[in-house]
Amino acid sequence: MIPYGKQSIDSSDLDSVLRALQSDWLTTGPQVKAFEQAFAQRTGARYAIAVCNGTAALHLAMLACGIGSGDRVYTSPNTFLASANAAAYVGAVPDFSDIDPVTYCLDPEVLEQNWLEDTRAIVAVDYAGQTAELPRLAELARSRNAFVIEDACHAIGGQFEHEKRLWPVGGHPYADVTTFSFHPVKSMTTGEGGMLVTDDREIAERARVLRNHGMTREPDEFQSLQVDGALAEQGPWYYEMHSLGYNYRITDFQSALGISQLQRLDHFLQRRREIVETYREAFAKLPHLQVPRLRNPLDQDVVAWHLFTILIDFEMLRTTRTEFMRELRESGVGSQVLYIPVHLQPWYRHMYGYGPGKCPVAESLYPQFLSLPLYPAMTDEDVMAVIENVTQLVLSHAE
Ligand SMILES: *Cc1c(COP(=O)(O)O)cnc(C)c1O
Repeated sequence: MIPYGKQSIDSSDLDSVLRALQSDWLTTGPQVKAFEQAFAQRTGARYAIAVCNGTAALHLAMLACGIGSGDRVYTSPNTFLASANAAAYVGAVPDFSDIDPVTYCLDPEVLEQNWLEDTRAIVAVDYAGQTAELPRLAELARSRNAFVIEDACHAIGGQFEHEKRLWPVGGHPYADVTTFSFHPVKSMTTGEGGMLVTDDREIAERARVLRNHGMTREPDEFQSLQVDGALAEQGPWYYEMHSLGYNYRITDFQSALGISQLQRLDHFLQRRREIVETYREAFAKLPHLQVPRLRNPLDQDVVAWHLFTILIDFEMLRTTRTEFMRELRESGVGSQVLYIPVHLQPWYRHMYGYGPGKCPVAESLYPQFLSLPLYPAMTDEDVMAVIENVTQLVLSHAE
């Protein structure tokens, strides 16, 4: 069975984790710092804060940007729940604006039309690895005093072209904060894990403190509290709390895995690109099937493909997606549907009154979405098996 996604763990990963487990630090130690440094270097961001998962990174991004009750946060309906939930965690209103039919990412023009006065942030999701239209989204947000939080969980290690320059995801000026996830289905893994990167020192400091209960051991940063007699004695145990934080820490052995995975990331991305190009060519002429398209052809060699999501017109093929997936699975090929439009989820309908018709493009594409297997450990035989079985199935239904 060829799954739709899978991690790649080799002996260098095992060695790295084993060394961390045998060291004095299991958590909040030198591997966490080293992982953050390596990640900052890789993305070109000034600051990187490692956390326990991608959702925690999004939550801290909201808090560090000061998003809260009375604020509206726009995101794409075509994303994992967490991109929107993070806004709800801080008491803001998560809202949804429709996607571009080519990239399946937020459509900046539609967002401009939808924009409401109380909007304080955009969560721009880089669907499948292709970046959202960040320069345009940043222009829109900044002229209206709002933040751009880039949810780059799909785009680890990617780049995009803009004005004749290549910009690394996490290291460009069109987002205030960028968040990543290292869940095993993502392009590199730490089991569970996440990262928040930014060039803004204040956002970074807030996120770092909030990751660990809002605690700081450095009283000289906060002279104001030292006038209080009870806090006057500042021995080696000393800590202060200035904000309500969380335990969003990541362990040293996860960070050690992150470091070794990061060293293999270019290889992972190269293999993913190869598979995507092979699929694209193989499926280009199949009826009732649309392969992924790039907004900017110059991104072809630098996009960090996470998903290979095709559109299939199951109605024209006189079948259902469920039946198609079942037949595909019987031939040994897994597939997945990413994502159910978030604004149609029962909780969002109930809490905010959202429903069908709010994002017509996302709603019309959703029934056609199908993500095919894509992960670096796929052999050429696996890739051929996917191509042959999908082709056969489409052609047999198209007759
Ligand atoms: C995976 C993912 C998340 C959440 O990451 P976790 O590490 O699972 O919490 C958020 N947004 C997107 C787009 C994702 O793919």
